[in-house]
Amino acid sequence: MNPEIQFNNLHNFSAGPGILPDSVLRSLQEALLEVPGMGLSLLGISHRSDWFLQVVQECTQQICELAGLDADWEVLLLQGGATQQFSMIPQTFLQGQKQAADYLETGYWSSKSLQPARLCGPVQVPWSGRTSGFHSLPPADLSYNPQASFLHFVSNETVEGLQFHRVPGLAQVPRVCDMSSDFLSRPLDAAQYHLIYAHAQKNLGPAGVTVVLLRKSWLQAQEERKKVNGLMLPDYQDYQRQIQARSILNTPPVFAIYAVLLVLRWLRYEIGGLQVMADINRAKAALVYGFLSQLYEQIELQAEEPYRSLMNVAFRFRDPLLERRFLQTAQLAGFSGLEGHRSLGGLRISLYNAMPLQSVRDLVDFMADFFHSL
Ligand SMILES: *Cc1c(COP(=O)(O)O)cnc(C)c1O
Repeated sequence: MNPEIQFNNLHNFSAGPGILPDSVLRSLQEALLEVPGMGLSLLGISHRSDWFLQVVQECTQQICELAGLDADWEVLLLQGGATQQFSMIPQTFLQGQKQAADYLETGYWSSKSLQPARLCGPVQVPWSGRTSGFHSLPPADLSYNPQASFLHFVSNETVEGLQFHRVPGLAQVPRVCDMSSDFLSRPLDAAQYHLIYAHAQKNLGPAGVTVVLLRKSWLQAQEERKKVNGLMLPDYQDYQRQIQARSILNTPPVFAIYAVLLVLRWLRYEIGGLQVMADINRAKAALVYGFLSQLYEQIELQAEEPYRSLMNVAFRFRDPLLERRFLQTAQLAGFSGLEGHRSLGGLRISLYNAMPLQSVRDLVDFMADFFHSL
């Protein structure tokens, strides 16, 4: 490591790819030239090497310990992003089922998950926020189908900044959750789920790898149903084949997986685990929401209060010209990535794990000055 090399990055508030910890970037910089003790660049190391098998093994182990997974869980590191899981999940768990799957439509990303599911089997949407403009999440007393094959939902709608602060659904229906933008941002009660997936590029590392946590017993039950019905999947799309191949069915993204391992180590040993991380994340969000809620004359928050995300804060200025001026001024002052998603416009402040509390303080001070000077 060469601590003399200074970098002068902007504060990166982007919603994705998201910010990574400085210490991880420094270790990656070193590994790009030579992985410590290996005499090879990270970009040229064989995915069949003992070193890489060790990386996958430790990555899996760290995730199991952080997420509190028991021996029924399998951890996979796949490619194709969360979007690939939008297909693989219904291909495996819905194809050939008589019972519909329940899909909650709570924002941009859960809407995207519907089309591939509908191609595979019957889908019901017990709740949709579409007609009301995605400002809230389903109420706690929503009635769910107790016979559904599974319930799919997105724990944190990255575009709208809506986050579940309780787990929806019924205990007897397997829960399948896209946690791409809040995985490992807070303690996780894995007992409530059958499948959890999260691509790396929001809160966990660079793009290229997607973590899939899967209950083996549930997958086994599907295997038997599929054998009876003669349903077969191409190897790459088959979770069972991926498990047998220990996530190395074809050439895996070695760089991205190594970066995820560095982030996991950072989270455990530098931060101190999920509870500490959750406390820091809550403090960051409290600063931002606390400041923005005084500005109701100038701005409008996308999410209603009970559903506000601790990861993504989406809002718009009532005056679009002022909004543009704000974005330009912020960029010049060193705050990057504040534009809202292209589907929604407005602004979005993303507060992923690696965003330091001090950067959030700096942003809030900057915003205070901006509004003060009007
Ligand atoms: C960004 C995002 C996606 C899209 O993921 P890809 O890896 O680009 O396919 C899916 N779900 C959520 C919750 C997201 O935030």
